[in-house]
This record gives sequence, structure tokens and C-alpha cells, in this order.
Amino acid sequence: MAEQLNPYQIAIEQLENVAKVINLDKGILEMLKVPQRVTTVQVPIKMDNGDIKVFIGHRSQHCNALGPWKGGIRYHPGVTLDEVKALSMWMTWKCAVVGIPLGGGKGGITCDPKKMSQAELERMTRRYTIAIAHIIGPEIDIPAPDVYTNPQTMAWIMDTYSIVRGYTTMGVVTGKPLALGGSKGRNEATGRGVQIIACEALKFNKMPIKGATVSVQGFGNVGAIGARLMQEQGMKIVAVSDSKGGIYNPKGLDIPAVEKWKAETGMVKDFKGCENITNDEILELKVDVLSPSGLENAITKKNVDKIKAKITSEGANGPTTPDADEVLYNNGVFVCPDVLANAGGVTVSYFEWVQGLQNYFWSEEDVNKQLNNIMVCAFNNVMGMAKKYKVNNRKAAYCLAVNRVAEAIKLRGLFP
Ligand code: NAD
Repeated sequence: MAEQLNPYQIAIEQLENVAKVINLDKGILEMLKVPQRVTTVQVPIKMDNGDIKVFIGHRSQHCNALGPWKGGIRYHPGVTLDEVKALSMWMTWKCAVVGIPLGGGKGGITCDPKKMSQAELERMTRRYTIAIAHIIGPEIDIPAPDVYTNPQTMAWIMDTYSIVRGYTTMGVVTGKPLALGGSKGRNEATGRGVQIIACEALKFNKMPIKGATVSVQGFGNVGAIGARLMQEQGMKIVAVSDSKGGIYNPKGLDIPAVEKWKAETGMVKDFKGCENITNDEILELKVDVLSPSGLENAITKKNVDKIKAKITSEGANGPTTPDADEVLYNNGVFVCPDVLANAGGVTVSYFEWVQGLQNYFWSEEDVNKQLNNIMVCAFNNVMGMAKKYKVNNRKAAYCLAVNRVAEAIKLRGLFP
């Protein structure tokens, strides 16, 4: 069963399944199963107490057929080489689904950032950057934030890389602070993408946007902003949750007020006028749109038959396990898969890279307009694939992505 395999095996299995549907050339399939380059480096740093500690860092560059590799850097105790390889392959598909000229990459260091000081994190980031400086760059591979890395981490990478090169190189990373060439709208981009896709899905299913009921699991960068933007579209957010639990009010929640409450108390629970509910219950509410935007594996074989939402718009990466996915499809739930619904983040990262290369910065209005164009177009392309191949929406998104990458590989030809 796929859930028991490691992430890289899951990624390969997904690719093999899609290869059968689109009748992918066997040689190209073999090429796509393996990252083009995998680098593992030693990252020794002096800890604050004077001891030297050696961390292990990776960078996987899966496929650059469509453009430079691109993907986040993760700091987490659970980082493994196979996880980084899988995430780099998924980045290839995500970039290809939205049709941006970038390939998939991912990096990570196995460490526990919660137990490290800012100074230790800075030394680790700079040492890792030096170790991979020869394989990253604005035209080679452009890292970005991921779990437990942030705009400050990107600023350190940009600074270290610029010292190596001898000149300031803004385009080497995205997700930078605004003062250092970050893009307007980047912070809201993933939540905005989730909202755009939810609206497109409602329209596609001939359901009204105004008054559509919504529940959102996860109230962080993606979930809270997604909820706020959906409310601005006239949708009724009836439930939200974070790691401490959720709240429900069938009359609808005032999301900015819930954000304020969360900022004050550190949780959404106990918000006035609401019923407290569990993170299991929030998934099982009868709503028009469910947006799982917390962690992976939220919808599994165990709870999938209790999902009563008509549409899901996946803010999180991997919130639905592969076997639960099939059941959702058979139960008639309209799934907007993660590679489509949460691709707003990488899309605005692409805009940031473009702005950095041109040293010309766009207004927030322009960023949001271009994001909307790309997301709506990607949604329609995925629907086209679902119809053409008679597959569920997730497989359709993969078919679109793998077809695009395979076409680029074919056109470039095989050297020598
Ligand atoms: P975040 O840390 O800002 O927020 C995560 C939220 O999920 C928090 O409110 C947390 O309390 C909640 N949460 C944690 N465990 C939970 C649980 N068991 N049940 C319910 N809620 C829980 O993170 P984020 O940036 O919003 O990322 C959320 C998801 O979206 C992740 O899967 C991430 O990989 C994915 N994602 C994020 C971006 C981005 O641009 N931030 C882009 C693409 C995908």
C-alpha cells in the first residue's frame, strides 16, 4: 500500500501510473524517475557553546527540461535524502501544471531548528550555502523557503552567495524580505491561489460563489489568508481550525476577528459565539468547500467515507492519501489537488525571480492579476485533461505536467 512506502517510492509510483495513462515513452519515464543531480554535503558549524556539530544537507535537482530547478529548503529533524528527492519531483510537476518556465528542486538539512539559536541557524545556513554555491544560481537553481525556513534565511543565502560571486545577486533565491527584492503579494500568494481555485471549482460545478459554505483546516499562512480571501468573495466560512482544535458557527465566522483572536491567544478555540470542534470533526462537516491547509495525510482511508464536502481545495501539500483519493473520486467529491490549488506560492516566486532579473518591481495589483490569469488557465487545462483521459483531477494535473515536461525533453533531444 502506497502509504507505507517512503515518499520517493510514492512519487515514483504516481509517475508510473500517469505514464500508463498518457502512454509515456519508456526512456523518458526512466529519466524522470531519477533526479538529474543529487548533492549531499557536510555542514559543520560551531555551536554557541563552542562545540563543533556536523549537520547533513541535501539538494536534489530533479528536472530542468522546462527551466532552472526551483524549490524550497527545509530545516527539520525528519529530513531524509528520499524525502528531498520526492519533494523535488513534485516541484517539477507543480511548476509544469501552472506552466511556468522552471524545473523541480528541493533542499534540506536534517536538524532541529527549534533547539537552535538564531546565530547557530545563521552559521548553518551560510555554511550550507557555501557547500552548494557551485550548483545554485539565478540561471541554475533558485531555492526558496519551506518548513522552518523564512525570508531571513533567504536573505542569509542571498548574502553568502553574493559574497562568493563578488556582486549582489538577488535572483539566487525567492521568498526574500520585501526590502531585499521580495515580491509584493508573495505572502498571500498561496492562500490567494487556494481561493481562486475554489471559486473556479464552484463555477465549474455550477454552484454559486456567494454564500458557498467553507471549512478550513489549518489557520496559518495558507489557511488563514485563504479563508479571509474566500470571505472577501462572499463565501461563508463556517469553520476553521489549528493544531489546538477548531471552531464552528453555521452563521459564518468573521475571519479578521478570528485572526485577531488567534494573534492574542495563540489559538482559534474558544472564539466568541462558536462551538469548539475537533480537527476530525472539521473535516466531516457538510459544506460546499473543504480546504485542508494544515498538514499532510488529513484525509485518509479511515475518515474518507465521512467527508461530506462537495469540493476540496488543497492548501496543504499531500493532505489526501492516494487510496483516500480514489474513494473521494468514487464518492463524487470534486478534488482540486495540491499541485494545482497551492501552486500560487511558486507562481509568485516565479514573478519574484523575474522581477529580480529585470530589477523592475511590479505593483501588488499587477502581481495579483497575473497570478489570477495563471491559476484560472491551469484550472481549465487540468479540467481538459480530466475529460480527455477520463481520470480524476489529481491524475489529470499529473498528466498535464508530465506531458509538458516530456514534450520539452523530446524537443531538446538526448545529448550526445
Ligand atoms: P503555517 O505553519 O503557517 O500554518 C500551519 C497551520 O496548520 C497552523 O495554523 C497550525 O496550527 C495548523 N496545524 C498544524 N497541525 C495541525 C493539525 N494536526 N490539524 C489542523 N491544523 C494543524 O504553514 P503554512 O505555510 O500555512 O503551510 C501549511 C501547508 O501548506 C503545508 O502543508 C505546506 O507545505 C503547504 N504549502 C505552503 C505554501 C506557502 O507558501 N506557505 C505553499 C505551498 C504549500
